[in-house]
Parts: sequence; structure tokens; C-alpha cells
Amino acid sequence: NTSDTSLPVSAASPAAQASEPVDIITFKDVVKRFGDVTVLDRLNFSVRKGEKVTIIGPSGSGKSTVLRILMTLENIDEGVIHVAGKPLWHEEKNGELQPASEEHLREMRKEMGMVFQQFNLFPHMTVRRNITEAPVHVLGLGKEEANARAETYLELVGLSDQADKFPSQLSGGQQQRVAIARALAMKPNIMLFDEPTSALDPELVGEVLNVIQRLADQDDLTILLVTHEMQFAKQISDRVCFFDKGVIVEQGPPEQVFTEPQEARTQEFLKGFI
Ligand code: ADP
Ligand code: MG
Repeated sequence: NTSDTSLPVSAASPAAQASEPVDIITFKDVVKRFGDVTVLDRLNFSVRKGEKVTIIGPSGSGKSTVLRILMTLENIDEGVIHVAGKPLWHEEKNGELQPASEEHLREMRKEMGMVFQQFNLFPHMTVRRNITEAPVHVLGLGKEEANARAETYLELVGLSDQADKFPSQLSGGQQQRVAIARALAMKPNIMLFDEPTSALDPELVGEVLNVIQRLADQDDLTILLVTHEMQFAKQISDRVCFFDKGVIVEQGPPEQVFTEPQEARTQEFLKGFI
């Protein structure tokens, strides 16, 4: 009986297209040099919308550089990067790629929020001002609306009662949670975390990871996390990428990369974390 054979789902069918994962970040043959040192060596890398990706790898392998390039804090020397379908460091004019204007870069920055190892809060501003500053000055929100947003995200990170404090009056874990709230207040589609718990005393790591875990539970938020917290990476990642010397040596689902790494360099690196 062949009458009930359903049609094979063709890749071209609208239904298949709609459910197909979309790359929100792509690096194509990206080269980044600092002087004579090639930090990213024809990097090809992509992240799907909503995907939670962890980057692991030795110090100096280019992990932070990848995030800093995405935040447009560093330029690239070769290659093309797309974020949300648009070239990041370039602009399309008359069908050709040209270096991005300041205006284009400002637009692109709104896609992403970044949390740094060293919190980077504005020390002379209250917690509330730290969070409202960019929504007011970059997005043009009114004071009331920005304050309401600050409240929303302070609640999310469990710091509703700390809005009038200054960063120096908070613990490292609290400061990092403010930094997360500050990034979220711009409502980015992509969150970048660069070793967000590496500067914290061990007893403060958990409270920050708990917040990141809560964000990872949001299906539509794309997360790119650099960390040495391997257990946490295993827990939240859809995919783990092992970086070394500016290329991806190995990547896959965490249970594969952590339990049966294929490459000798990955095996050697992971030995240091047992
Ligand atoms: P990771 O985050 O994996 O430790 P980074 O991306 O910070 O590595 O750095 C990769 C390499 O680039 C390192 O060798 C580092 O010394 C170099 N590097 C990073 N930033 C700069 C800079 N602003 N000037 C010169 N060299 C840099
Ligand atoms: Mg780094």
C-alpha cells in the first residue's frame, strides 16, 4: 500500500525552509593579525539563531578576539563576517562590499551585548545609571522607560534592591550580574560572554552561572560563551568549539567533545581540567 506514503520533505519546500535553522553569525575565511602575529587564521565559524555555543581553548588562542571583533572592538584584516544577515565590518553598496560606516557599525552593535571578565561597569555611576545609560543615549529611550527596563533586568538577575548602590559597594558576583543586566537592557538578540566568572572568588561563581543558565533557557536568545567552566559548558551548550592558534580544531555536542575528543590537541587541553 503506497497510497499513504507521505511526500519526502524537500529542502526547497516552504515548510522545510521555515523550520531550517538560520545562521545568525558567520565568519568566512576571517584573518586577524596583530603586527606579525596571526591571531585568527582563516577562521570559518557559524552560529545558528538561538544556539548556545561555548568556546574553549588555551590562553592566547583567539577566543576573546572573536568576541571583540563581533562587538566591533577590533577590526579584521581579511574575510567577511555576517551578523543577522548583514555584513558586519562591511556594507553592501551597489551590490559591492565596502568598509562599514560608523552608522552601520552602530546599527550592528545593537544586535549584540557583551559581558567581560572584568565587569567593566562605570564606577562613578549607580547601578541604575549603569543600566539606563545606553538605552537612553543609544536607543533614545525616555528616562522613565529606561528606569523601568533597569528594574526589569535587575529583577531578572536578582538585584532589585541594589539599584542605588555604586559598583564598588557590590561583590564581584553582584557586579557581574549588573553587567549582565546592563547588556540585556539593550535587548540584544545575541549575548557574548568572555570568561564571565574567571575574575570571581570561587564562592561567587555559582550566582553568575545561575543567571546565565536562566538566559540559556530562552530558546530565541543566541549565546556565545567563552569559559573554562567545563561542567557548566557541558550543561548549557548545544555545541562546544575547541580553539587553538586561531582556528577551530574540533567542535560538536558537549557530550562528544568532552567525553570522546577526536583530536590530540583537544585531548591534551581537556586533561588539564579533570
Ligand atoms: P584568548 O582570549 O584565547 O586568551 P586573545 O584573543 O585575547 O586570546 O588573544 C589572542 C592573541 O592575540 C594573543 O597572542 C594575544 O597576545 C594577541 N593580542 C590580543 N589583543 C592584542 C592587541 N590589542 N595587540 C596585540 N596583540 C594582541
Ligand atoms: Mg581571552
